[in-house]
Amino acid sequence: MKIAIFNDQQLGIVFPEENRIVDVSNAANWDSKNPEASFQNLIEMFDDLKPLIENEMMRGKAFKLSEVYLRSPVPRTRKIWAAPVNYKKHQEEMNKQFNNAPLTIEDLALFLKSPDSLSGPMDPIKLPFTNRRTDHEAELGYVVGKKAKNVKAEDAKDYIFGYFALLDISIRGNEERTWRKSFDTFTPIGPWIVTADEIEDPNHLSMKLWVNDELRQDGNTKHLIYDCYKCFEVACNNMQLNPGDIIATGTPEGVGPLMPGDTVKIEIEKIGGFTVKVEAADQEKSENPKQHTIKK
Ligand code: MN
Repeated sequence: MKIAIFNDQQLGIVFPEENRIVDVSNAANWDSKNPEASFQNLIEMFDDLKPLIENEMMRGKAFKLSEVYLRSPVPRTRKIWAAPVNYKKHQEEMNKQFNNAPLTIEDLALFLKSPDSLSGPMDPIKLPFTNRRTDHEAELGYVVGKKAKNVKAEDAKDYIFGYFALLDISIRGNEERTWRKSFDTFTPIGPWIVTADEIEDPNHLSMKLWVNDELRQDGNTKHLIYDCYKCFEVACNNMQLNPGDIIATGTPEGVGPLMPGDTVKIEIEKIGGFTVKVEAADQEKSENPKQHTIKK
């Protein structure tokens, strides 16, 4: 099932090959005025709601997918756990470009991104500092479906609600990762959530990213150092994971800078993709940090 949130915060099931999205809000106790609580209820009660949604899929109001505005399929999250370097070739390219081999997930475990950095698959990425190198990172992301603590990788599958494409937008430099990756619009996700039952093996999905039609990243989750399930294990090792929490699994090689006016497209096998514009954020009140400005 491909679950989207669209237009005025309605809940939709998507049929991409038919260019169709069906409004199933009625079947899911969905309140468009409160998508946050509605989403929480949806994933916590999904086993009960699923048959009702499947029924509504047949008779709910249908729209052309190409004519709706897709929102972030997770309207609000309490935390985003993200993997630092989690592909060997990405470590190599960072070493080449910045002359230091960054440590990988094996040494650093995970880091947090601000939940408020979340944005939708049609919302523009807004660059806060146009003189700072700000990169795209194409990643597979997923949303947690059940409370979890000390769940081992081999059991993680049962706790994942669904998958989506995720951009981990990142300012390069020496500041804390959390700061460099937490600006508004720095975590676009989408275009919808593909429920876990439709993704037999998340650790074997090809992933591509283009900037202005130039292919920049061409990877596959089979090269992850810690795969999706191992990331889950790390994220709930003696800590609570809650329904609605998001995990970003890391980016393959090919990262590069974004500039205002660029268009970024991400696509992941069996999930789908989205295209977003890059803009300069309102600069009036911002001050550019002095270090690590782009060398011209
Ligand atoms: Mn990343």
